[in-house]
Amino acid sequence: MKTYIVGNWKMNLTVGESSIYLQKLLKRIKMSKDIEVAVAPSTIALQTLSVQLERNKSKVKLAAQNFYHRDYGAYTGEVSVMQLNGLVNYAIVGHSERRYIFGETNKDLKLKVAAAIRNNITPILCVGETENERTYGETKDVIRDEIFGALSEIDAEDVKKVIIAYEPVWAISSTKGAKIAAPDEIANTIKLIKSELKEIYGKEIAEKVPILYGGSVNPSNAGAYLTIPGVNGLLIGGSSLISDHFIDIIEIAKRVAR
Ligand code: PEP
Repeated sequence: MKTYIVGNWKMNLTVGESSIYLQKLLKRIKMSKDIEVAVAPSTIALQTLSVQLERNKSKVKLAAQNFYHRDYGAYTGEVSVMQLNGLVNYAIVGHSERRYIFGETNKDLKLKVAAAIRNNITPILCVGETENERTYGETKDVIRDEIFGALSEIDAEDVKKVIIAYEPVWAISSTKGAKIAAPDEIANTIKLIKSELKEIYGKEIAEKVPILYGGSVNPSNAGAYLTIPGVNGLLIGGSSLISDHFIDIIEIAKRVAR
């Protein structure tokens, strides 16, 4: 399986800044068949970056940070995944900021996962417990609800088009005081995710679903996170905004994959 390195720029960088960043990335990285690199810029930068990638014949991919589950219609201000088709290969679904700031529920996410698959875009489904849920020993139940909630109507054929990102909410944004998750704890929760997938789809199919880790990844810890059994890549927030750091992480991933 490939190693996925995905940068989530969140609501940062103007279109111009995004384009300059991408140019630097294209100049500095040498793509390898073992590594899939994607960035998730602001929606308004997708068109420009998509043209830029095409012009450079680059294998770097784009991801959407968000979309609405309906394909078209009277939904002022929303962007559908159908409209994103042709611009992005991936779409982040259920990021904790969408769950906890914008109130997205497992029911909303089920519709989004289905919409992405219907439109040939790979959903990167984020799951993870909050600090309180962890403290009260609810991690297992939360992960189970999030996996079953989002995937309950996805069949075995389609789940092979899904990526799961385990992002403990308490470990996101260490620059804002988050904690750093220990490899052992991540390994245990990833085992749990795999066993939920096995329960629904069976072992063979469950093994085909890539699982990424996200939460305060930076060039100093990326190598350690990538060697945790069951981790097939990284979803990176803060550190992906610094192009040198993101490039370093890609190089680390290449070394680990070798
Ligand atoms: C994220 O928000 O998905 C994330 C992993 O952020 P950070 O890397 O900044 O913790």
